[in-house]
Amino acid sequence: MKWKSQLENLKAYQPGKTMEDVKEMFGLEKVTKLASNENPFGCSGLVRKFLQEAALSPNIYPDGYAKTLRFALADHLSVKPTQLLFGNGSDEVIQIISKALLTRDNNTVMATPTFPQYKHNAIVEGAEVREVSLDQNGKHQLTKMLEAIDESTSVVWLCSPNNPSGEYIRNMELIEFLDNVPEHVLVVLDEAYYEYVVADDYYDALQLLKDYPQLLITRTFSKAYGLAGFRVGYGIASEEIIAMLEPVREPFNVNTLGQGAVVAALQDQQFIEKCVGENRKGLEQYYEFCKTEGLNYFPSQGNFILIDFKMDGDEVFQYLMSKGFIVRSGQALGYPTCVRVTVGSQQENEKVIEVMKGFLATKKNRIV
Ligand SMILES: *Cc1c(COP(=O)(O)O)cnc(C)c1O
Repeated sequence: MKWKSQLENLKAYQPGKTMEDVKEMFGLEKVTKLASNENPFGCSGLVRKFLQEAALSPNIYPDGYAKTLRFALADHLSVKPTQLLFGNGSDEVIQIISKALLTRDNNTVMATPTFPQYKHNAIVEGAEVREVSLDQNGKHQLTKMLEAIDESTSVVWLCSPNNPSGEYIRNMELIEFLDNVPEHVLVVLDEAYYEYVVADDYYDALQLLKDYPQLLITRTFSKAYGLAGFRVGYGIASEEIIAMLEPVREPFNVNTLGQGAVVAALQDQQFIEKCVGENRKGLEQYYEFCKTEGLNYFPSQGNFILIDFKMDGDEVFQYLMSKGFIVRSGQALGYPTCVRVTVGSQQENEKVIEVMKGFLATKKNRIV
């Protein structure tokens, strides 16, 4: 068959072990998953209420324009409904952008390590991938990213807060970048963890959209809103950009349940505030642990933390898993001596920290 040659070395997404798998493997009663940055507090009660009361007709296609959701979100963000593009998760928004803009004849610029789907989609489309290392603090090197751009660059991907480092782009840095990026480049700003950010010098992306028409923001209901299972993400950009992307989207890409759940979730901003507050407290628990143990970590604006154990991340991962905690090994994330842990509830954090301490105690001879 005439497969695209670029598919030769492309691997399918490797899903982590499920909680059921781990229970069985280690004969555990209880397993806690802190691997995918899911919300440990579930989702808004309004979503549960919607699910109980929704009179759904599974035989009917979803609203392909997601009109109710579109108007509710436009209102929430104070943008026009025509400035929004919905996806089956922001993963699909990334795919739509890639399909619309990337070809064998152009290139795309991104940081590394960062969210892997930018590169994955670029490879499928055959575009040249130009990766610019994060600095040692896990921050985007925007000047170097500008240098990597040329007349054949079609999309630049910025991830802020960046997954997996948790670092973010400062307001002044982003403005300087946008002032200097050539007009033919679409700048995608992935703000999957937007709701969790508390830093004072974080930018206001929606405000920047007014001055920089080449900007496209992606966000999601999978993280702070706790609706990962429903798969709803979105892009925000100028009406012109959205109008170009819309025809690339599948006609019924956001399902009926997802649309309804998100409309309900938007009405409960108190839930988000509560989760953001708990997340900050949780991060402090990890910071304190790292300081006590002399471990380096990356200060995070997301709901996860990357901790450097200065040893094979797989080893830490395996140990934690045997004790019932699923985290992500840094080996798969470009930080081989780290693990990435999703911030859980206070109690979950306490427990996983206790297990980490136990692990470190078995490693007295480690290099500090
Ligand atoms: C989780 C995540 C996404 C994808 O989320 P969806 O569930 O597809 O909406 C996108 N970008 C980053 C940086 C993420 O961490």
